[in-house]
Amino acid sequence: MKKVLFIDRDGTLVIEPPIDFQLDSLEKLQFYPGVFQYLARIATELDFELVMVTNQDGLGTTSFPEETFWPAQNKIIEAFENEGVRFSEILIDKSFPEENAPTRKPGTALLTHYIKGNYDLENSYVIGDRNTDVQLAKNLGCKAIFIGIDINPEATLTTTSWKEIFTF
Ligand SMILES: [Mg+2]
Repeated sequence: MKKVLFIDRDGTLVIEPPIDFQLDSLEKLQFYPGVFQYLARIATELDFELVMVTNQDGLGTTSFPEETFWPAQNKIIEAFENEGVRFSEILIDKSFPEENAPTRKPGTALLTHYIKGNYDLENSYVIGDRNTDVQLAKNLGCKAIFIGIDINPEATLTTTSWKEIFTF
């Protein structure tokens, strides 16, 4: 059975833009320190499928037009592929929080094929910087790695270091 790392994007793979939390230009694109080195080692040395799962509030509306999203998103994917990191699937929820969509993290509606499929979710992880990522792990029946400073008691590991995630 395959193990999966469900990886958040903003605040986990890239720095979340501090003012509006919206990565809508290449100028705002900054990668998380150490992520290339250690995610590449995870990809090549460990046995996990990599899946990106991201909430992009209102993507496709006037508040976040698609054409401002894709240049940075495509650059992120290309940069990781250049380092040998390939995501088997990229799942993007475009709803606003107040819509309470089942597809929005911590909802699992975009991930039902992992729940129903032949996956070892008990030994899989969600890696993310929000409590919703930790809740997603709970909802999937997998473990959580929380990226943050304050210990998240529901996460197996709390860290700000991709080196530490790799070592763990
Ligand atoms: Mg995040």
